[in-house]
Amino acid sequence: MSDHPFDIAIVGAGMVGASLALACAKAGWRVAVIEPAAPAEPDPDSEPELRVSALSAGSEAWLNRIGVWESMAKYRMAPFRSLSVWEAPSGPLRVLPGGRRLAHGARTTFEAQRLERSHLGHIVENGITRYALWQHLATHDRVQLFCPSSLKHLQQGSESVTLTLDSGDTIVASLVVGADGATSVTRKLAGIGTTRNQYRQQAMVINVRHEPPQQSITWQMFTPDGPRAYLPLPDAAGSSWGSLVWYDQPENLDELMALDEQGLMAAIRRAFPLELPDIDAAPARGRFPIAREHAHQYYRDRVVLIGDAAHTINPLAGQGVNLGFQDAACLGSLLGGGAPGADPGNPELLAQYESARRPRNQLMMDAMDLFYRFFSNNQPPLHLMRNLGLGLAGNLPFARDQVARYAMGIDETLPAPVESLLNRLA
Ligand SMILES: Cc1cc2nc3c(=O)[nH]c(=O)nc-3n(C[C@H](O)[C@H](O)[C@H](O)COP(=O)(O)OP(=O)(O)OC[C@H]3O[C@@H](n4cnc5c(N)ncnc54)[C@H](O)[C@@H]3O)c2cc1C
Repeated sequence: MSDHPFDIAIVGAGMVGASLALACAKAGWRVAVIEPAAPAEPDPDSEPELRVSALSAGSEAWLNRIGVWESMAKYRMAPFRSLSVWEAPSGPLRVLPGGRRLAHGARTTFEAQRLERSHLGHIVENGITRYALWQHLATHDRVQLFCPSSLKHLQQGSESVTLTLDSGDTIVASLVVGADGATSVTRKLAGIGTTRNQYRQQAMVINVRHEPPQQSITWQMFTPDGPRAYLPLPDAAGSSWGSLVWYDQPENLDELMALDEQGLMAAIRRAFPLELPDIDAAPARGRFPIAREHAHQYYRDRVVLIGDAAHTINPLAGQGVNLGFQDAACLGSLLGGGAPGADPGNPELLAQYESARRPRNQLMMDAMDLFYRFFSNNQPPLHLMRNLGLGLAGNLPFARDQVARYAMGIDETLPAPVESLLNRLA
């Protein structure tokens, strides 16, 4: 048993927790990081990993601010310059050789060029982001890594919190940050409840090798069973790659998961639109239940939650980790410089964090819910409204570009009329 007096203990060095740990150490706080598994060094010759994230321009700015983006870019990432969204026709409008359907329907496209940016965001393998962050943490003299270790017990006092780890170590810190993901143990031990809704659809992620060149376009086609999405991956192992996300009912995904690689590729060709380049391999797949969950409080007695520990969101617009990075940036800037004698667990500071972040996270969760409900059914009036909506968005460049700037993290707020419309619809 050992006692370690720290200013801040961060439970979980996923992408979000590791980024806040680094920001706090750079600001002068003494930081403990508790994590069960260190990330492996990325292999530049390997095929891309299955778990990837679309990192917005806002996330890129945050990772740049803490000095990590350059380390990530030394590995590999795929910028995307355009994002297209459309609804699939309810029946096959045209069936082409190979059984593929040509998708029609109103479409809206967001272009980096229109926003005077070189790109809208990057698709990055989660392991690359985590490894780059970890390298910086491991060499920082104000950081002590407790790895492999998991949080087992918390004792919250008025001046400090005592954490007990499964390794037997005991840590004392003025502030504990729960960044341990959707099933956060920190949240449970601090007695913070959540509101949770399990969506009927699940997500299957499939890496496919396809004909070159690498695309710099990401797209999503909505169907009543769920969206079909394509994210471009960087060239790897001498080939071009893409990440497909196939949302569907669990029983349909059971069947897809049971197919061999050839069978899965045939199913992909039938279900995905012509925009998908020709594929010749689908070596990796995985499925993920999707849920919406929001903590009732973001802080309690010197324990504060960030990232998926505070909120999980339908991944349909790829916003989960981007919101988590916004939490980390917000808390990091409120904590500011680690001035001698300052208390990082000051409840006023934590209240400021919650009042800044909760409405933003709630808005994005509501918007994703709205999309999910709006597109996941076949009722004719909604079908018409969807097409009118997408058509209208495509023809209102100003409104469309404002929404894109918000979704990409370039602007922090939505134009007031759009925000109030969303709030009312939600
Ligand atoms: C299919 C799918 C696609 C997605 N695509 C995108 C996307 O394109 N863009 C996007 O922004 N988001 C996306 N997301 C969401 C994104 O993956 C999550 O929001 C993000 O990973 C959350 O990061 P986090 O660091 O908060 O939590 P996590 O990534 O869950 O990290 C939690 C960390 O805590 C550690 N931990 C757990 N328990 C303990 C314990 N007891 N003690 C100590 N440590 C512990 C874990 O080992 C882990 O390292 C997607 C999600 C899914 C399911």
